[in-house]
Amino acid sequence: MNDGGIVDGNMSGNRNAGKINENSACGKVWLAGAGPGDAGLLTVKAAHLIEKADVIVYDALISAEVLSRISQNTETIYVGKHSGNHPVPQHEINQILVREAKKGKKVLRLKGGDPFVFGRGGEELETLISEQIPFEVVPGITSSVAVPAYAGIPVTHRDYTSSFHVITGHARKDGTLSIDFDSLVRLNGTLVFLMSVSSMEKILKGLTDAGMDPDMPAAVLERGTTARQRRVTATVGTLKAESDRAGIRTPAIIVVGKVCALADELHWAEDRQLGGRQFLLTRPRQNISALAGRLRNLGAQVIEMPAIHTEAVCPNEPLKSALERFRQHREGKWLVFTSPIGVNVFFDTLKEMKMDLRSVFGGNGKVRIGAIGSATADSLCEYGLIPDAVPGTYNAGELGKELAEMSEPGEYVLIARAEKGSPDLIPPLTDKGLLVDDIALYRTVYEINPLLKEEVIRMLQNGEIDAVTFTSASTVRGFVRAMGESGMDYHSVRAVCIGEQTARAAAEYGMQIEIADQASMDAMVEKITELFGKKQLK
Ligand code: SAH
Repeated sequence: MNDGGIVDGNMSGNRNAGKINENSACGKVWLAGAGPGDAGLLTVKAAHLIEKADVIVYDALISAEVLSRISQNTETIYVGKHSGNHPVPQHEINQILVREAKKGKKVLRLKGGDPFVFGRGGEELETLISEQIPFEVVPGITSSVAVPAYAGIPVTHRDYTSSFHVITGHARKDGTLSIDFDSLVRLNGTLVFLMSVSSMEKILKGLTDAGMDPDMPAAVLERGTTARQRRVTATVGTLKAESDRAGIRTPAIIVVGKVCALADELHWAEDRQLGGRQFLLTRPRQNISALAGRLRNLGAQVIEMPAIHTEAVCPNEPLKSALERFRQHREGKWLVFTSPIGVNVFFDTLKEMKMDLRSVFGGNGKVRIGAIGSATADSLCEYGLIPDAVPGTYNAGELGKELAEMSEPGEYVLIARAEKGSPDLIPPLTDKGLLVDDIALYRTVYEINPLLKEEVIRMLQNGEIDAVTFTSASTVRGFVRAMGESGMDYHSVRAVCIGEQTARAAAEYGMQIEIADQASMDAMVEKITELFGKKQLK
């Protein structure tokens, strides 16, 4: 992928490049499609731009799952609706793009689906050209094809149709449609109507008045490609009544044609193990993706809203002194870790201090390594250290007991972990007569994502989020803090927790508790699948 443009402002490929390069202070606009909702349908290029842009100008169709990929350090401008539900006028959006680019910024204009399919992308480019602002266009996956695909409707099929047509159902101010129904019916292709829910009756009548068989299969597809997608299949004669019965609302598309009848056989999206399910993940961003990826692979939609992040203690003089004591200690000694993040931060800090592991381990006493659980042990293995002690139960008290059992009085224990780690670890060690240094490597900082907050509150209140996952008590507290003074009632929130301690924190807010059988990501996925998965795979 040519991603040089956004990284270094290279404007090759733009027909205005020559003129505009002279004005090096000018930024650039990427007009990109975000696809129809499922974040997996972002193009590689759009996903990259979301990470690299200085400012993202987005509208109402961008799903929460896509929004959750935007870093908090990226500025965002919402142009979906003004307060009071009025759409932001197009000329105002154009001016925002011009203004931001002229500040020298990399501007990502993110639109639902494809930017040129009823997206007014052309108009935005005309403004940019008149202001001599460089741009690129990144096509997106359009709802007109992807939404039927996720409903099991191929827009073409050799046996039924050889063309498909995408039509706007948007009515003029006087309520009439500018659609040539006679021509459409004669085409004999699949007809896809966007922006068509409120004009459904007129569209269907227009088709039958122009001679279409009222028994022609038809479908209306709501919020396609998302966890909440719904499909109503009927005929041109019955679709309106069936759609009303189901309470279909915008955004939805109407599909008319014989291919609609295939949906009953070819549907698949909601049949995936976690199809139709939506989860909110609150892990720190450093390690959110493994869990998110696995849930997505099972068909779930996943909103990532990190509730905490970690910050290394830097510089870390206490660690430096403790490592010196460790080196000089002549009896046996333990180096103990209680989280994978702790392991990573430990080695980063050593690097920062330009300290070689051989000098740390090089003294006289025998060195042993302790890890609280399998994930921490795995992280240590990545650095070439295989722990000597890993308790069967993931719990600070158990780790303390096991270390004490394996040691003789007078041995030295250096615990390298988070600030305010569980106090339960220490008493078994000191009772045994071990010398203990409990060193803070990193601290937990709560994160608030204002971009997602309101949308997440709305989704939780509407029951659109099946469960929230918590992997530590601090993620619970961070999540509640992020929800702010929203007056949220947490009783309806189903909390899938990694262990007892996390569950206790969630229970304090009255959440419905589920606890993974073990403190691991595998066990979290298993628990979620057991609770929310389809009993039988298709
Ligand atoms: N540029 C967009 C379309 C913008 S017009 C694209 O290429 O998809 C907005 C209309 O798109 C909505 O009224 C609806 O008809 C349709 N639409 C967009 N996303 C949709 C979705 N996830 N499910 C159903 N319809 C959708």
